[in-house]
Amino acid sequence: MDSLLLEQAVEKIRGAKRVVAFTGAGISVESGVPPFRGENGIWANHDPSCLDVKNFNANPDEAWKEIRAIFYDHFLAARPNAAHLALAEMEKAGYLQGIITQNIDNLHQKAGSKNVVEFHGSSQRLVCQTCGEIRQADEVNWVKLPPRCEDCNMVLKPDFVFFGEAIPMQAHKQASAETLMADVWLVIGTTGEVMPAASLPVDAKRNGKTIIEVNVCPSNYTDTVTDIFLEGKASEVLKAIMKSL
Ligand code: ZN
Repeated sequence: MDSLLLEQAVEKIRGAKRVVAFTGAGISVESGVPPFRGENGIWANHDPSCLDVKNFNANPDEAWKEIRAIFYDHFLAARPNAAHLALAEMEKAGYLQGIITQNIDNLHQKAGSKNVVEFHGSSQRLVCQTCGEIRQADEVNWVKLPPRCEDCNMVLKPDFVFFGEAIPMQAHKQASAETLMADVWLVIGTTGEVMPAASLPVDAKRNGKTIIEVNVCPSNYTDTVTDIFLEGKASEVLKAIMKSL
């Protein structure tokens, strides 16, 4: 990591009135949560149709077997890593006002972050599509599939965005508002391929905001909207930023 660029990034953060972090799968890889795409990604080993909302509603038993294997057999035990912890520490110290995450793994909250916008929802909650009842994933009996609503006995659905579903309205609104409000966007572990999330840093840049990017290699953002590119693992870069603040 370039120390001059790090110093520039720290100065931007110190001088900003409002800083938000925008995070993607790359920040959770060090917690053992695989990304969806890529060679060792989830879709290399699982059938994506389990997250197609039409298919899920038509074949909930089959879809839930796959969904449990992907999201609940291991991920409920995943722990936040140094990158999540550094962001929680930055928020506590007043250097960070919020996080917009594309991840559904709940690791920012586990790390202690308070103001988290879950752009794609969360695997931590299951929702009844009929009566709206919410169950926490760690209270569900995972032996018997599919999990059902205690009130109306309908199949519960993970409260995250499936293929063919819209972004939760409130999260979309809050994230869009930050493209106008926050002067600095810390873009971490995301390559800018998943729409509509990918357009948020582009909108922020168009609104005159500063984009600081943290990624292990250059992304769609690097040559287009990024002002300061800090190349490296999220844990190492964020620890270094926090230390210099
Ligand atoms: Zn119900």
